[in-house]
Amino acid sequence: MLKKVLIANRGEIAVRIIRACKELNIKTVAVYSTEDKDSLHVKLADEAICIGSARSKDSYLNETNILSSAINLKCDGIHPGYGFLSENYKFAKKVEENGMKFIGPSADIIEMMGDKIKAKELMKKNNVPIVPGSDGEVEDIDSAREIVNNIGLPILIKASGGGGGRGMRRVYKIEDLDKEFSEAKKEAIAAFNNGEMYIEKLIENPKHVEVQILADDYGNVISLGERDCSIQRKNQKLLEESPYNTLSDEIRDQMYKSAIIAARSCNYTNAGTVEFVLDNDKFYFIEMNTRIQVEHPVTEMVTGIDLVKEQLKIASEIPLSIKQSDININTHSIECRINSENPLKGFLPAAGKVDFLNLPGGRNVRFDTYLYNGCKISPYYDSMVGKLIVSDESRSGAIIKLKEALKELKILGINTNIELQNSIISNNDFINGDYDTSFIEKNLDKLLAVE
Ligand code: ADP
Ligand code: ADP
Ligand code: MG
Repeated sequence: MLKKVLIANRGEIAVRIIRACKELNIKTVAVYSTEDKDSLHVKLADEAICIGSARSKDSYLNETNILSSAINLKCDGIHPGYGFLSENYKFAKKVEENGMKFIGPSADIIEMMGDKIKAKELMKKNNVPIVPGSDGEVEDIDSAREIVNNIGLPILIKASGGGGGRGMRRVYKIEDLDKEFSEAKKEAIAAFNNGEMYIEKLIENPKHVEVQILADDYGNVISLGERDCSIQRKNQKLLEESPYNTLSDEIRDQMYKSAIIAARSCNYTNAGTVEFVLDNDKFYFIEMNTRIQVEHPVTEMVTGIDLVKEQLKIASEIPLSIKQSDININTHSIECRINSENPLKGFLPAAGKVDFLNLPGGRNVRFDTYLYNGCKISPYYDSMVGKLIVSDESRSGAIIKLKEALKELKILGINTNIELQNSIISNNDFINGDYDTSFIEKNLDKLLAVE
């Protein structure tokens, strides 16, 4: 087993990883920016080291400082969490070269699957359905026009190195193509330092369904059910659940098989997620995330498996002790992302101090957070401050439980989206399962009016 792990992240996921390490008797090192010196992850870790100033670029993305901290403190592993350096293959390679374990797949796999164009090519070769679109990179506007002639409108322009819902543009009218293409490319260069673009047919109003995978060093690959993450705003997830109730057994089974093929096709190891868009009963691979996912707790709730502990065990070269036949999903779990933002003011991120905090409780109610009474919410980082997760025997039971838990949850001193989450789960279409990725966009005024 790994002995000492540096957690190259902050916020709720750093706290989550520290807890898992402690349960496995692994020593923990927190890293923090000057801005985060009083943050919860710093207080919970065995050791903590400041790696730079507030801006992510100077601290949580500061590869040199993170690596030298890990080396100096004699760590044998680095857990990157999600976001920040988690999908940076060059960083993963440096960790490996310094004789430490990057807790995730190898640098080669991250490089391969992080290049969405290459990942799609690999899937095509292995007969995993992909969204129709360009064959590889679309270098210029003329090639883009040619693709549109072939596949028709509407289309989605995407960035090969993209993530977090950014660098994506929809095109419905041919006269918008030039502008959208050049703007998407500009955005991709600014955000990911990579202007490689590709084009997909825009699947109108699909469901986002993804499959969780675990794979060890010995060729064992299992799927741990699916998650419906269709409640999104600007292509970013807001609420997630497992399972996706109305999926037919046949399609579900095909999706699991495709996810396992995806993992096997690149000799994947550790935890990963294979993402699909689902159009009625047709599903298409969109990408593989080679890291722990924000919404992993819903899978933990329905499978009873601690995914972060599994990541640490796999990284310690321990064979998976769970077999596919051990995965039986009979309950339902829902997660709400709690963001410090003001939905009534265009989702303006809110920073400040938490004056009062009351956390919900009860059977199968979980709140993953870095908040504590009096803590500071920094304007420098992601606005997600916590995740409220519940599970129950049925989806309707989970919704009732979630409503009560949202009522109990009080975060005073900053604006949050708690009321919006309550409106979403109170909406009849949501309750009836009658929604897709356009739900928030279509219903925003109504959802905000209930507040
Ligand atoms: P998940 O699929 O786990 O829900 P998201 O796409 O919501 O992940 O991203 C998780 C976190 O990582 C978010 O905070 C998001 O802003 C960040 N993120 C994801 N991909 C990138 C990227 N390529 N560059 C920068 N940040 C990213
Ligand atoms: P990211 O790396 O930013 O997470 P994804 O490729 O996973 O990018 O796409 C993010 C979201 O955008 C998806 O969850 C889905 O809602 C939407 N999306 C992506 N590709 C398509 C498509 N071809 N048609 C319709 N929606 C799509
Ligand atoms: Mg995605």
